Amino acid sequence: MAGSPECDCGAVAGPLGACVDYYHAILAEEQADPRMYRWHAPVVCAYLLQHPSGAHEKYLDGQFRQLQLYLDKGLDALLRVAAHQVARNNHRARAGYDTSPLAAYEPLPPGGPPGRFRASFCGLPVRDGSFVFDGHQAYGHRIKLIAEATVESWRSIQA
Ligand SMILES: [Zn+2]
Repeated sequence: MAGSPECDCGAVAGPLGACVDYYHAILAEEQADPRMYRWHAPVVCAYLLQHPSGAHEKYLDGQFRQLQLYLDKGLDALLRVAAHQVARNNHRARAGYDTSPLAAYEPLPPGGPPGRFRASFCGLPVRDGSFVFDGHQAYGHRIKLIAEATVESWRSIQA
């Protein structure tokens, strides 16, 4: 698929196809791998922020803040916040983001999406059909680089 047209995020398709093909392959693999699933939230947030045409716009601000919290405080902190959000939704509480740990982070800048990111989903290496072929920490590091690239590009459109 080399030389295929550019994705929404500006990336050229990789061996598996466009980012959406990588995204679906990740979601399928992590379903069967609880350790890999730990990165589910940053994967979803980064993917949707790089390809917002397939996303619900009202959630993008929260997803942008989740990525910032992940980069600032780490994966465990993000997982705690995500669990808290789910519990709160289940209790139908009326509190908004103002009272959550995400309130400390920058809102999504207007004027997006950015047209280019320095790390993309279709740039992820896959071997023997697996994204965690060289271990979960190595996979997690690559997801973190995509998260950093996502936040960096969104911030750059403010300038
Ligand atoms: Zn893409």
